[in-house]
Amino acid sequence: GLGIGLVGLPNVGKSTTFNALTKAQNAESANYPFCTIEPNKAVVPVPDKRLDELSKIVNPERIQHSTLDFVDIAGLVKGASKGEGLGNKFLGNIRETEVILHIVRCFEDPNVVHTEGSIDPIRDVEIIEQELLFADIDAVLKRIDMLKKKAKGNDKDAKMQLEVAEALLAHIEEGNPVSTFEGIESDGFKAINKDLRLLTSKEIIYGANVDEDGLSEDNEFVQQLKTYADERNREVIKLCAKVEEEMVDFEDEEREEMLTDLGVTESGLEQIIHKGFDKLGLQSYFTAGVKEVRAWTIRKGTTAPKAAAVIHNDFEKGFIRAEVISYEDFIQYGGEQGAKEAGKNRLEGKEYIVQDGDVMHFRFNV
Ligand code: GDP
Repeated sequence: GLGIGLVGLPNVGKSTTFNALTKAQNAESANYPFCTIEPNKAVVPVPDKRLDELSKIVNPERIQHSTLDFVDIAGLVKGASKGEGLGNKFLGNIRETEVILHIVRCFEDPNVVHTEGSIDPIRDVEIIEQELLFADIDAVLKRIDMLKKKAKGNDKDAKMQLEVAEALLAHIEEGNPVSTFEGIESDGFKAINKDLRLLTSKEIIYGANVDEDGLSEDNEFVQQLKTYADERNREVIKLCAKVEEEMVDFEDEEREEMLTDLGVTESGLEQIIHKGFDKLGLQSYFTAGVKEVRAWTIRKGTTAPKAAAVIHNDFEKGFIRAEVISYEDFIQYGGEQGAKEAGKNRLEGKEYIVQDGDVMHFRFNV
């Protein structure tokens, strides 16, 4: 469940965005022979300029990026929580993901029908968020029923959870998302949410889908959405889904030119990938060999043996120590040899917390 779920009303540009992500996946899929390609999932490389800098020094045969999973949750419409259409199944798919990317229509185009009849980002966002909230209210109500039965016996844990669940219900019935519940750090809440994975407890990124002209300057729709997001401590990332889909096929140079023409430095999709990676609490460490320069994905706070396990389980089991050079030192001293001569090669043990950008070698028993 390390993924980002894409939601949004029909005709807002969700499929276009997901197509761009799928193309990005396919462009690199030769590098990931073990990933099965699923129609509603895109395993997308995380752009990282540091890999290019490392490669200039190491000259590897290939470069591999960290990846991030996106899941297309098509079909979330008004009434989904009431089980209209296939709504409930889609809500179940969101449950599995950790972060929600909510695509919001912020472009006008008379040729693209809006299902609600007009362009109004706040109304659209509220329709989707209402559905998510209804689904959560349902889930919490069911939980309360179950906990009441358990609490009749002398189940202390159930009693404690029941108290939290009732406070939570009051909070969300007032229209507030689970994420602002004051008991969110309590053990009771954590126990409840471990099973329920409440939809409005997840982090949300708004993807404002704008026309090409809307990238360099915020249009009125984007301004409205930003105000709404600010009040909720959430972020808006602008993208032009159509342009993203085109640009995935471009060579680096062509792409840079296009971005300059559009008046931006980083594409919306790249910003979304970076933001999503960060919101998931992920970071990368590197291995830099002549065969391959590669970024490996770990959670922030991961110890060296656990980080080694991402490469191979045996690396964790037989872990002796890690040789670590920070990315900055690796670049500054022109590679491993130079860094070693400058005394920048550290030996770290089992307790070491791997840092973003560490260039690692693992020593292990077989
Ligand atoms: P979905 O229903 O949310 O998946 O929406 P689609 O991705 O299928 O997009 C609906 C229509 O809007 C398609 O005809 C797209 O080509 C068009 N579209 C998507 N993004 C943009 C955009 O940024 N500008 C304009 N003008 N049209 C767009």
